[in-house]
Amino acid sequence: MQRRRFLAASAAATLALAARPALATGGLDDFVPSPGPSPTGGQQVRVLLGRGQTSPIDARSFSFGTRTYRGTFSLTSEGQVLNTVPLEEYLYSVVPMESPHSWPQEALRAQAIVARTFALSRRNPNRAYDVVASERDQAYGGLQGEYPESTAAVNSTAGQILRWNNAVATVSYMSCCGGHTEDPADAWAGGADLPYLRGVACTFCNASPDYHWSRILPLVSLTNAFTSALANVGTPQSIAVAEADASGRAKSIRFTGSDGTAEVSGSDFRRLLGASVVRSLLIRSITMNPGDPAQAAATITIEGSGRGHGVGLCQWGSRGLASEGRSSRDILSFYFPGIQIQ
Ligand SMILES: [Zn+2]
Repeated sequence: MQRRRFLAASAAATLALAARPALATGGLDDFVPSPGPSPTGGQQVRVLLGRGQTSPIDARSFSFGTRTYRGTFSLTSEGQVLNTVPLEEYLYSVVPMESPHSWPQEALRAQAIVARTFALSRRNPNRAYDVVASERDQAYGGLQGEYPESTAAVNSTAGQILRWNNAVATVSYMSCCGGHTEDPADAWAGGADLPYLRGVACTFCNASPDYHWSRILPLVSLTNAFTSALANVGTPQSIAVAEADASGRAKSIRFTGSDGTAEVSGSDFRRLLGASVVRSLLIRSITMNPGDPAQAAATITIEGSGRGHGVGLCQWGSRGLASEGRSSRDILSFYFPGIQIQ
């Protein structure tokens, strides 16, 4: 997802990676790449793979490290490997890496359309690449990551993207919204205020393991992370969400101690404690557990809902809607109200 405006997207992608079953591991020794014809008739995307060993396999595939990729490769001026690949073939790998291939077909179709839209929105002739092959933009792992179910979802939606005012829409997605998706203007400084990208109530993601989460961490990890903020607070006594935005996500966190109070932004709270600890800013409670000084160090318990930044399509919610029989169009219209699917 876009780094400038979609900083927290990596958490969503990380969860998507963690939640899906292990990918097929055919391995190069027994893997026969069989890229089919390009359904787009030549629409290409340039994917930055990173540094590593490459070797051509045939005119339409190559190896990079231990994996096989569709398309061709070249090197950027910085020596990074650039994969030029037909857009639809790029999606064959992105879709199952972002949503498990075992999910309902309509959820995979929604993922295909939103991933296609995202890739097109990232095309940029003023730089050497369009997208990065990581959670920074979209996960992409070449042929070994592909599955028939997700390839079918790509093929059956070929060419379909989300548009707004006849332009490629600015889209985002994340693993689990935890009950309400987020306005981009609340999620990121300078985030777009777009009529189709507004927070919506969503409980369809309640099957996600992160719909409700709880994490316990030593109080010392908090005091270490916020040394300067806690400098004049004294002995910490309580921690609470001081201000929340319209979706309920924490805008600021207040520390109260024996000598005073201090506040940090919600985004700093999540960043400094780690996105794997504070899985989202939809924080339900923060409890201090003093502990017995003779036996256990003090801890804090943080409880919250969802994982990721919360903006755009909720992947687990899409799965839930598809399981109820809703179509990919229904799903996309739910998370992107008023959007045009073309
Ligand atoms: Zn949701």
